[in-house]
Amino acid sequence: MPKSLLRNLAPVHEMIDDEEIQKYVRELGKELVTNLIREVQDKLRNDILEEKANIISFIKESKEDSDVQMYRLIKDELLERLDKKVESNFQQVINGTGTVLHTNLGRAPLSSEVMEKLSDTVTNYSNLEFDLDSGRRGSRYSHIESIIKDLTGAESAIVVNNNAAAVMLTLSALANDKEVIISRGELVEIGGSFRIPDVMKQSGAHLVEVGTTNKTHYSDYENAITDETGMLLKVHTSNYEIVGFTEGVSREELVQIGHDNGVYVVEDLGSGLLFDLSKYGLQYEPTINDVLKSGVDLVTFSGDKLLGGPQAGIIAGKKELVDKIKSNQLTRALRIDKLSLKALEETFRIYLNPEKAFKQIPVLYLLTQSLNDIEKRGKELKSKLESSVIKNSFHICLEKNVSRVGGGAMPTQDLETWTVVLKGDNSKLYDLWNSLREKNPPVISRLQNEKLIFDLRTIKEQELDTVVENLEACMTRE
Ligand SMILES: *Cc1c(COP(=O)(O)O)cnc(C)c1O
Repeated sequence: MPKSLLRNLAPVHEMIDDEEIQKYVRELGKELVTNLIREVQDKLRNDILEEKANIISFIKESKEDSDVQMYRLIKDELLERLDKKVESNFQQVINGTGTVLHTNLGRAPLSSEVMEKLSDTVTNYSNLEFDLDSGRRGSRYSHIESIIKDLTGAESAIVVNNNAAAVMLTLSALANDKEVIISRGELVEIGGSFRIPDVMKQSGAHLVEVGTTNKTHYSDYENAITDETGMLLKVHTSNYEIVGFTEGVSREELVQIGHDNGVYVVEDLGSGLLFDLSKYGLQYEPTINDVLKSGVDLVTFSGDKLLGGPQAGIIAGKKELVDKIKSNQLTRALRIDKLSLKALEETFRIYLNPEKAFKQIPVLYLLTQSLNDIEKRGKELKSKLESSVIKNSFHICLEKNVSRVGGGAMPTQDLETWTVVLKGDNSKLYDLWNSLREKNPPVISRLQNEKLIFDLRTIKEQELDTVVENLEACMTRE
């Protein structure tokens, strides 16, 4: 009996003419779809030949003709596989965690105003490395240098792939085979295996640690300087804070020691801020201008942390040093691509007008939005959920909570926020937390203390309906 079923397999050309499958042919091309049909048919053929119990009983129990039944079996599996080919892997998600710079969720979301400016430049030819004045070869860094100078007060600047690359390049170009002195309190690990001691080794600089974890004195630096010293490096302890019995050497003091002894003073600031956010109730963080004003020779920072731009690493400061970096061999390997360069230029352009920056740069907006606005979205989400099927299975509450800055910035900063919380059966909450990530777009929520939490700080007004629809879809599937 089973083998006779094989005669009922529909020919490939018949399947490919199926209206539903034709939609995928238009999207993916005939060859790919044909190959997939063959694959699925082969799999079914093997299952039948091996008399896999589920296939045989499925077909025997069916009231329909076996050829209709087999056609459906193949088509269902085929459509599932075709959907996977059409769907993007790297896609938008809804961030319900409240963490603004969520490293796993793409760190800084880009400004839509920046994206609008991107398309003309990158879908056409551009003056990326062409000097329109002279008609000769130009530099990709020229497009961004003057705006960085205007915004930060730096003499010169260069941008590379990310801040890790910026630190590596700076060390390699300015301190190769030289000693670099750093406080033991600043031997940072950022995550993703970026550790200052390891980066130092890779760059060819020799690490000289001074002080202790909690205390480093002026004299520690002074005593460590030798003829081999090339640089004093200050690293922002982005993702941790040392509190209690502590002492450090100020930026100004470090500059003093460096310049008295003729060695460079460089600061890895991690997250780059152009505005002091303490006016908005956040803790004070040194801005790039503050750092350069203190006399530091170079500062490096990320494009996609508090700055709110694309992934990039910016090195700004003394022209003589930036020129040395520009001519280093490693620069070519770490260079920024045109998409990011354009996005960074336009992000900086928004900063020229601070008022615009707080509206158009998502990171700045998300960090400084009013608690009232967050609460308003919370109330709206709660009331939408109360008139949905969710109400039948869970308690829906509006609760105050705290969100995080994230991205290894301001680790001790609490951001007051409002959350919508679902309470109820634990295993149901767990299932919901999981199945929300399978939706399109996936919704990322927090499961904590037997609650499913949606932090409204990072959920946009126009995403609220989607959150509700996706939650409902999860419920009806069960
Ligand atoms: C985040 C960070 C880095 C790495 O920056 P990326 O842009 O992620 O490469 C380096 N140093 C410090 C202090 C940081 O906070």
